[in-house]
Amino acid sequence: MKFAFSLMIAFLFAAISPAQAQTARPQMQTFDTSAGPVKITPIEHASTLIEAGAKVIYVDPAKTPNFPSDFTGLPPADLILISDTHSDHMDPASIKLQSKADTVIIAPPSVVTTVTTAKPLANGETTKWDKWTIEAIPMYNMVRGPAPGKFFHDKGRGDGFVLTYGGKRFYFSGDTEAIPEMKALKNIDVAFLCMFERPTMSPDEAASAALAFNPKVVIPYHYGTSDPAEFKKKLEGSGIDVRLLDWYPKKP
Ligand code: ZN
Repeated sequence: MKFAFSLMIAFLFAAISPAQAQTARPQMQTFDTSAGPVKITPIEHASTLIEAGAKVIYVDPAKTPNFPSDFTGLPPADLILISDTHSDHMDPASIKLQSKADTVIIAPPSVVTTVTTAKPLANGETTKWDKWTIEAIPMYNMVRGPAPGKFFHDKGRGDGFVLTYGGKRFYFSGDTEAIPEMKALKNIDVAFLCMFERPTMSPDEAASAALAFNPKVVIPYHYGTSDPAEFKKKLEGSGIDVRLLDWYPKKP
């Protein structure tokens, strides 16, 4: 009887433990670090879920008509990182949906103007949160824009992020072309690289950038109508592990 009771308690804990809940996500990528596993799940376009040490982080949780991220069943955030002011990255409704009372939000100053509860982190600045170190990296256009002399992403407005946990370094490029600051990155274990050609860079430009900073793993994200298979093909034989995930799940 006592044994049966213990067994019941054990099952109960197994059912509600966050570690258990993390194991079943589609497309989840697990990376071992000295502080335990980091589990990263694509949601849609740029929206990404990171789980590590029972903490939940979202990068750019956003829902737009073109990119209708589905947050159903996903846990509330301990930390939210926002990269830019555009609606496919900064969406006050999705931020609210995934927040709880003590959620910390970190974003570039341009975003803090709208998301006033966010803590500003400008290009070149570094902060710590839980076991993470968060570095804000520039992200910007050098060529592409809506009109001559204008850019879709002005230098200094948005943040790429290098997130370090248990000795592993995860890079989220944000919306950027193949800027010198990206090519100069060192010791990146996992790079999430945008390659939506019209507003950011082509798969070909992203591949050239990846060859310059040589991350161990690259996961193309924010690729829109561009084809990340072109990126993977260009990196064949480079030793870089390119993982193609589906960031645009079909909706019923
Ligand atoms: Zn974008």
